[in-house]
This record gives sequence, C-alpha cells and structure tokens, in this order.
Amino acid sequence: MTPLEKAHRIRELPPYLFAKIDQMKEEMKQKGADLIDLGIGDPDLPTFPHIIAALKEAAQDPRNHRYPSYSGMREFREAVATWYHKRFNVSLDPSTEVVSLIGSKEGIAHLPLAFINPHDIALVPDPGYPVYNTATLFAGGIPYFMPLRKENNFLPDFSIIPEAILRKAKLIFLNYPNNPTAAVASRSFFKEAVELAHRYHLVLCHDAAYTELYFDNVPPPSMLEIPGAKDSTIEFHSLSKTYNMTGWRIAFAVGNADIISSLGQVKTNIDSGVAQTIQVAGTTALCGDQTPVTEMRRIYQERRDLLVQGLKEAGFEVEAPHATFYLWVTTPSGFTSSEFTAHLLTKAAVVTTPGNGFGPSGEGYIRMTLTVDKERIAEAVERIKQMDFSH
Ligand SMILES: *Cc1c(COP(=O)(O)O)cnc(C)c1O
Repeated sequence: MTPLEKAHRIRELPPYLFAKIDQMKEEMKQKGADLIDLGIGDPDLPTFPHIIAALKEAAQDPRNHRYPSYSGMREFREAVATWYHKRFNVSLDPSTEVVSLIGSKEGIAHLPLAFINPHDIALVPDPGYPVYNTATLFAGGIPYFMPLRKENNFLPDFSIIPEAILRKAKLIFLNYPNNPTAAVASRSFFKEAVELAHRYHLVLCHDAAYTELYFDNVPPPSMLEIPGAKDSTIEFHSLSKTYNMTGWRIAFAVGNADIISSLGQVKTNIDSGVAQTIQVAGTTALCGDQTPVTEMRRIYQERRDLLVQGLKEAGFEVEAPHATFYLWVTTPSGFTSSEFTAHLLTKAAVVTTPGNGFGPSGEGYIRMTLTVDKERIAEAVERIKQMDFSH
C-alpha cells in the first residue's frame, strides 16, 4: 500500500530530537542498566492528599458527570482570581478575565489559532518549550527565534530584533521562570516586554508555569503586575507543577478579556472544557492549605543544592537556579549537547536532555531535572564523578 499522504503541518514538523535518546534509553534498560532519569520535567512527588480527597467526593456528585461549561466553573474561576490577588496583588474579573484549561499546554497550543494568520510572525524564545514553535507552525505562522544567551541572563534582547520583524509580528511568547534555562526575569524586564507589546500591538503570551517553584524565599513576579500589562497580556498558569498534578490536566489563563474570549472561541470549537471533578479538586488546591507547597519547595531546594554542589565538584559549570526544577548545565569542552547526553547515558546510566532539543541556541548545554529523590541524586553525582570524560 502506498503510504498515506500527511498534511504539510505534520510533515514539516521539526525532527523529534529526543527519539534517539529514547531509543538509547530503551537499549540500556534491556541490558539491565539502573537508569537515573534526570530527563523528564514531571514531578516525582504525589498530589497532596486533601486534593485527592476533594476529587473523590466530587466524583460522587452526578452534577459533576455532565459536560462542564466552556469557560470553567464559576467556583474555579473565582478561586483563580482570589489566588492571583493573594499571590501577585493583581485583580481579575472571574467572569471575563479567567478561563480554565485542560493543561496550559492546551491553551498555549490553541492561542495562535486566534491571532496568527498564515505567514504572520510569532516571536519565540530559543531555547524554549517546544509548543510555542509548533503551535505557531500549526496556525500557518512563522516563528522568529529570539536567542536566550547566558551573557544576557537568558532573557531575549529585544533591541536586536529587526524592525521589519517586529512590525509583522502578532504574538510574543515568554516564559519566566524559564524552562529549560531556569532563568528568572525581573520586573524591569517584564516592563520592557509590556512596552514592546504596546509599541508593536503584540499579544504578549506569558507562560508562568513555574512561578510557585522558587527557592530562597524569593517569589518570582507575574507579568500582570506591570501597570498596563492587561491591555495586551495573557498569562498561563498551571496546577501541574505547583500541586504535583501533571496527570490531572488542569490549568488556567488570565489577563486581557478580549484575548481570553478569543482563546475561548477557539476552544469551544475544539474541546468541551475541564471535567468538573477535576475543577472541584483544582479549586481545593488553590483555596486550601498551601503549606504542602512550601514543603515541596524545601524538598526541591535540598535536591538543587545537592546536585549543584556535586556537579561543581565534578568540574561542571552550573549555577544554582532561583526557580524551576531544572539545572542548565554547560556541556564540557569536546562534546556537543547530544554527544554529552549520550555519554552520560551510556557511561553513567544518567538520563539528561540535550539543550539543542529546545532550539538551536540550546547547543552547548544539557538540562537536568530535580525530580528524583536525594539518594538517587547522590548516586548520579557519584557515577558522574567516576565517569571517564574522554570520548
Ligand atoms: C510543564 C510546563 C507547562 C505545564 O504544562 P501543563 O500542560 O499545564 O501540564 C507549561 N509550560 C512549560 C514551559 C512547562 O515546562
């Protein structure tokens, strides 16, 4: 049979850079290797018990078995507004400035469909969460990469973007605290971003998935704290990392009412909202006791300190991140990102992610996650210290 002809948007997707790593992982497992997986950005800690209890109770109520409303339950949207006000001192109207999402990936992936016409430009961070790029491509748009470089603290330098590009751009994606570089942005950078969005009439899409995963008691800001941000900003937040709920699929977007309703318009034609049981549990997560979140931060911080110190002792160039559960580690000289990831996997049975998997400017780095316990981190450090660094 002749192979089915796929749509261009599928055929032209960037090659799956992790495929080779996955294959090597599989081979190592077959050989019986005891892999330490510092590759996946998925919390190893369980969802907090009071959230699970709320789900159980909600599941008994037949009202929660039916189609949810498109924009989300009133209670959930109110919980979001209350949480935002408490955390960022930002006021939101729950009826027009909040929408529930089936994970923030879902909302981010659908946003370009509301604002990008074929050949329109979206400004995309490089390295970055791959969805910004692929969602732009799916909408027929053209991603313009903004390199995030160490010398600029992994913030994009807006001044080097050509004027002609800025004029054609419709959308800008930003993400702080950042995946994969773990960089945190200051309010003054956010102010620059808001000014850029105003000047060029851009929709400013800020992915804030990691605002609660911070260390040393310094909570990162929201883009919406910047005066005037609400004229052009949509901010995505997720319960995935904050409450160890990646598998539950619940998140929300907040900000400019027009942008929120445009995203809602796309969504009503594609999905039918978040299961009510999950929204009830999500409401409990946002309104309930936040001490487990503090405890979670403490656990990650301990792991961070352990891995950073171990890597430094092993001769690596790495900085302790102020937020996220990632370390962005400079690749030792003589190795590309992919080569060093393969080396760590085959020589130390430690799984990491090559930086170039997040975009060309990620070359020269590998990403490690803090999603295994202290004992396993210590074991990974030992293996890396014993490892032969020659090819
Ligand atoms: C994990 C992550 C998300 C969250 O995705 P969900 O779909 O809400 O689980 C969003 N953005 C970035 C950059 C992430 O790393």
